[in-house]
Amino acid sequence: MKPAHPDRSAKPLLVIGWDGATPELIEAWMEDGSLPNLAALRARGSYAPLRSVLPPLSPAAWTTAITGLNPGRHGIWDFGHLAPGTYRVDSTDARHRQGASVWEMAEAAGLSSAVLNVPMSHPTSELPRGAFVPGMGASKLKGATWPPELAERLAGEVPDYLIDCNMYEHAAPADFLTQLMDMTRARGEAAEFLLREGRPDLLFAVFTATDRVQHAFWRQSSLPWTDGARLAWRFSSAIKDVYMLLDDILGRLIDLAGPKATVMVVSDHGFGELEGDLYLNGVLEQMGLLSVRRSRVSPRIRAAVPRVLERLLPTQSMAPADFGDIIWEQTRAFSRGLLGNVWLNLRGRQPLGQVEPGPEAEDLMRQISERLLALREPDGEGKQLISAVFRGADLYWGSLAGQAPDLVVVPRDYRWMTRSGREIGPPGVITSEPAVRHTGNHRMDGILVAGGPGIQRGGAPTLLRILDLCPTALALLGIEVPRSLDGVPMSKLLSCDHGWTDELPARPERHKSESEEADNALEERLRSIGYIAT
Ligand SMILES: [Zn+2]
Repeated sequence: MKPAHPDRSAKPLLVIGWDGATPELIEAWMEDGSLPNLAALRARGSYAPLRSVLPPLSPAAWTTAITGLNPGRHGIWDFGHLAPGTYRVDSTDARHRQGASVWEMAEAAGLSSAVLNVPMSHPTSELPRGAFVPGMGASKLKGATWPPELAERLAGEVPDYLIDCNMYEHAAPADFLTQLMDMTRARGEAAEFLLREGRPDLLFAVFTATDRVQHAFWRQSSLPWTDGARLAWRFSSAIKDVYMLLDDILGRLIDLAGPKATVMVVSDHGFGELEGDLYLNGVLEQMGLLSVRRSRVSPRIRAAVPRVLERLLPTQSMAPADFGDIIWEQTRAFSRGLLGNVWLNLRGRQPLGQVEPGPEAEDLMRQISERLLALREPDGEGKQLISAVFRGADLYWGSLAGQAPDLVVVPRDYRWMTRSGREIGPPGVITSEPAVRHTGNHRMDGILVAGGPGIQRGGAPTLLRILDLCPTALALLGIEVPRSLDGVPMSKLLSCDHGWTDELPARPERHKSESEEADNALEERLRSIGYIAT
């Protein structure tokens, strides 16, 4: 890869992620003066909603943001994936990613980066000029930073540094909020430390508190008479408090970076209300397409009973079952993971495949789609429960597109969600209250606010795409944009020129000196972000 153009306009470039930050909230709070630094950035730059990927989940969305590739080419959809040729669910991390990240491309062009807490970016590659602090997916910093000794320096500099936190580790919501705010302050200090010490050309830092607080308190913050925040109801200001803290941190980072810096504040998806949980496997079971071994005993207790004694346990209860309870020889389609994925049990692809590829598979997908689109929400108002069903093959392209779900199901406005580890409800149950104490869920459109050299002043494009974030960052850094990327620089945002290259982005060696497996117990990771009940 060619060295970056020496007269590049952005020096440095700050990409600040506010995970799940949503247009309706930042627009209102930039107006009323609650987010002065974000509003000032918009005033000297541009703002637009930023369309996520389908489904709008952090692993897929952030990986698309950092690679400029669609999931069919980078290979990351969810926190877990079916191990090829099995029904086993393995956890997903950066080792499953194809394609270079923006900071790896910066490294190859001779620029330095500091990367802080980007979801699904761990384990890191070697970055001779860079600094890397892992995010969600790493259980500890030791052995997971680049350079390896950075973990200790960071611990000395920011003793309270925490990778993640969530409501499930706390009996009392108030304790969760205190820890969330402390974690965010510490993350801000870590970002300042990386910027001050390394003077990187690119700082890519993600703050996840916006996502965690919106999952937990969306409804409390939109109760009648709370005015969205700051009134007396308990927790009604929780979400706004986090946004205001992040705005404060943003202001400090902008000051520290200096007037020549270009700054982008981005989110991977938006947010809105959560109605409840959806059990797509329940629909498939009703259609006679899925068969489950149900027991009167909870899956957890059953797992503790030796195999030979298992048949002595009572059967046929109303208890929910586990993904592992599916009887594959009697199953033609199944759902697994977060936000609406359906796979056929396909011959030649799954070990006990029951559906012949070709017309039989096509016909089955048509039947399932029709049934799903006919479902109504349980409140009796007749609204569609599922607003769209896409073929994975129509959404994604590239060498890994075959790993995509066969059907991607969109619940109405994402007001309903399917959950990893809770794929199968009690018999006959299609929807239920959320299994966890969540009242908010993701939406398709996040945010992009940008300002500084290379960014149009007063720009307000109607919509930008997260797919274009990486090439846009490359353009701002003076790096030629690979034509092989799926995304392109955002012409409605940029005021700078950029070059193109036919060279494929190079990827440095992966850093291997750590105990990776210990980090990756799937259940622990899913629980740590609050998607399954504890
Ligand atoms: Zn989330």
